[in-house]
Amino acid sequence: MQEFDQAADRFSALTRAVRSGIDTDPANGAVVPPINLSTNYSFTGYAEPRGYDYSRAGNPTRQVFADAITALEGGSGTVITSSGLSAVTTAVLSVVTAGARVAIPHDAYGGTWRLFDNLARRGYCELHTVDFTAADTAAARLAELQPDLVFLETPSNPLLRITDLTRMSAAAHAAGALVVADNTFCSPLLQQPLSLGADLVLHSTTKYINGHSDMVGGSLTAATPQLAEEISYFANVYGCTGGAFDAYLGMRGLRTLHTRMRAHQENAAAVVEVLLAHPAVRAVYYPGLPEHPGHELAARQQSGFGAMVSFELAGVAEVKQLLPALHCFTLAESLGGTESLISHTATMTHAGMTEEARKEAGITDGLLRLSVGIEATEDLVDDLRTALDAVI
Ligand SMILES: *Cc1c(COP(=O)(O)O)cnc(C)c1O
Repeated sequence: MQEFDQAADRFSALTRAVRSGIDTDPANGAVVPPINLSTNYSFTGYAEPRGYDYSRAGNPTRQVFADAITALEGGSGTVITSSGLSAVTTAVLSVVTAGARVAIPHDAYGGTWRLFDNLARRGYCELHTVDFTAADTAAARLAELQPDLVFLETPSNPLLRITDLTRMSAAAHAAGALVVADNTFCSPLLQQPLSLGADLVLHSTTKYINGHSDMVGGSLTAATPQLAEEISYFANVYGCTGGAFDAYLGMRGLRTLHTRMRAHQENAAAVVEVLLAHPAVRAVYYPGLPEHPGHELAARQQSGFGAMVSFELAGVAEVKQLLPALHCFTLAESLGGTESLISHTATMTHAGMTEEARKEAGITDGLLRLSVGIEATEDLVDDLRTALDAVI
């Protein structure tokens, strides 16, 4: 068995993540850490547990995955949860007490908004929505609200608005709040919110981290050992931890995240060129474009612009012409997998919002969102261009 773990400090976070758990199997020297499906672990004797006792509380397969994410996010510890939303649940229920004031983005991920809305309706917290992309107004609002928890998400969905994590974390801390950041759209490779001031960072590992659209999972990483201990305790208390098989799939995906992300981003940049050049396209939303209002901020706080791209056609009639003409973009929700996807925001991901709320969030009936996959660039470009030509 390699003494990799002992020597790990001199390796980069990326190498430590790729090699998490490699050649650490004492039984057989399995190079890839085996999946530990066992529910329970034997005690060596009276009151002598080994490292693990029961898989809800702790599981070796989940730990390998957690260690890799901790390395990439630069945190002190990670809990692997059963979904991205159960990571949000763990974060909130670990740090919030009855009557706490919570501030979330006005355009938060729909499931996140629904979770907080339900908690507020049941009296567990007092909920406030804030436009964190308007930094000055948002900072003043936080000073006035004095929230206990500030939840940030950047880039936002579907318009890819950018929030200044450093500025908003500082404003939240000054107001006495703890900061949680949803880093799903960037993955830990493109953005590390803990280094910008967040206290907790979470992922829907369902998306880029797993990257193959074949499991649902989440992660929650803490900046300090004390917070890491608390979230780990409460994830077990609330029963939010993830299954071993899902952790295995997530870890298998994570080992290639950096190579996939490179291909995703190259393809996204090529797709954006097609969209910009086509007369059927009314607007393109992509933080890599210099005219995007969050471009400079994204260039500063992210190490890449990601592979999520939204664009607008004139209306529903044009959307209905485009969709059947596409063959390399599947009409489906979710994101971050190897396959390219297209979704119609108003009738799919944001169908739960009222028409008025959609209008307020800037979501028109002609808005489409792409999760650009890792297929051959020329195929994606040709497919999209040909389909756009079918829009008259
Ligand atoms: C998908 C998603 C979630 C929720 O994650 P699940 O794994 O679906 O529970 C949270 N935040 C963002 C930004 C997401 O895209």
